[in-house]
Amino acid sequence: MSLYKNQPLKIYNTLTSEKNTFVPLHQGHVGMYVCGPTVYSNVHLGNVRTFMSFDVIYRYLIHLGYNVRYVRNITDAGHLTDDGDIENDRFVKQSRLEKLEPMEIVQKYTVDFHKVLEKFNFLPPNIEPTATGHIIEQIELTQKLIDDGFAYESHGSVYFDVMEYNKRGFNYGELSNRNIEELFANTRDLDGQNEKKNPQDFALWKNASPAHIMRWPSPWGYGFPGWHLECTAMSTKYLGEKFDIHGGGMDLKFPHHECEVAQGKACNGTSPVNYWMHTNMLTMNGQRMSKSTGNYILPMELIEGENNFFEKAFSPNIVRFCFLQAHYRSVLDISNEAMVASEKGYNRLMEAISLIKDLKPSSDSSFDVNAWQQSCYDAMNDDFNTPILIAQLFEITRIINLVNDGKETLTTDDINIVSKTINDFAFNILGLKNEMSSGNNAEKLSGVVQMLIEMRNEARANKNWALSDEIRDRLAALEIHLKDGKEGTTFTL
Ligand code: AMP
Ligand code: ZN
Repeated sequence: MSLYKNQPLKIYNTLTSEKNTFVPLHQGHVGMYVCGPTVYSNVHLGNVRTFMSFDVIYRYLIHLGYNVRYVRNITDAGHLTDDGDIENDRFVKQSRLEKLEPMEIVQKYTVDFHKVLEKFNFLPPNIEPTATGHIIEQIELTQKLIDDGFAYESHGSVYFDVMEYNKRGFNYGELSNRNIEELFANTRDLDGQNEKKNPQDFALWKNASPAHIMRWPSPWGYGFPGWHLECTAMSTKYLGEKFDIHGGGMDLKFPHHECEVAQGKACNGTSPVNYWMHTNMLTMNGQRMSKSTGNYILPMELIEGENNFFEKAFSPNIVRFCFLQAHYRSVLDISNEAMVASEKGYNRLMEAISLIKDLKPSSDSSFDVNAWQQSCYDAMNDDFNTPILIAQLFEITRIINLVNDGKETLTTDDINIVSKTINDFAFNILGLKNEMSSGNNAEKLSGVVQMLIEMRNEARANKNWALSDEIRDRLAALEIHLKDGKEGTTFTL
């Protein structure tokens, strides 16, 4: 039986402003869409925090036995710094700065993003669509919105008509709890707004002159799609007109996700998403981490120790452990102290884990392992509460140490439950890796290769060329290459 049947999960839903019991549209299946990075520069640690929160959510849904389709896009076109002047296209701006083609910018930072995700042990999504790969779908949606009277063309651009949407009984502002009158009163006058009927109207398609390299033909002339429409087009294509979970950072709630709700409702008459999830921000020096203000650290700068903020380098595992010690809906202020404390905590947990295999079982247990295991589930079932889960992992760390000292007892079965539960929650769900055991494995491997080198030397001394060649070739087949030099034989893994 699938675990989800007896582990009811609650998710905080931005749409209802409360925790709701999670019931997927199709039993046993979950469709989840998370807004991916805008690949015009390196992802910073703040971005990593948001994607990590969804990585853990994805991992937990899989653990519960759901068949999850996780779609996380790459925004590689159309993300303007505002909804006005196309000169503010992030890709075009950056390509001028770096003297590269916009698509070279896209490639460079997509590769960087993937490298970071791998370092931090992220599970890849099932589909990673790009905005530029879905221009046709976006044109089709735009056309449908025009045909249905929700959008209008103006000077080769197409805008969503917010006033018309509300006139038809919908409520622009429902997700971000904004009042439409206030919105109308507070909108800044930006370039390009004279093309719009109302300042709240947002671009579905932007007209672009030949000077603008990233442009595509459309029924309204050459141009490029609006950022909000990208996510609607890609989520609809891969998850359907209505799906279970849509996520992103809090800063995307408005206008990005508000516009997605409006686009989905206008196109299909139904709310596109059942559970909207928003992660809180990573701050540094008390301020939101952000590229534009310069208040940021790149993930590689942190793990390689090349920065002026942290006193030393911290491994990706420690960063993961630190980030997950805060709930995803709380602000997390990154600091050297927090990272040092996380390193200590992580080491304490891993040391306890290394003791498990040598614990002496007793005929009965003085600690209720099943209740402890359920409290790990309770933590995650309560809106993915990773700090409480980690507190439970510290609790079992304490028990393991006491059993090791003979002050508490566990049966063989209970030791096995502890071992399995830690494996599930610390490694499979929180996505931590055991640096201690991988360190040992690396040591063991180089010991074994060293032994084979010595056996090969002996074979050569005995002129047993067949054996010495076989050792070299079979190691090479495993991509372990031996190199004979003056100082002896060395190897590369
Ligand atoms: P972007 O590439 O700017 O579209 O951002 C990618 C994701 O990172 C979005 O979900 C943002 O909400 C999120 N994000 C941006 N800055 C931060 C931050 N300081 N802390 C947490 N998440 C962030
Ligand atoms: Zn999006």
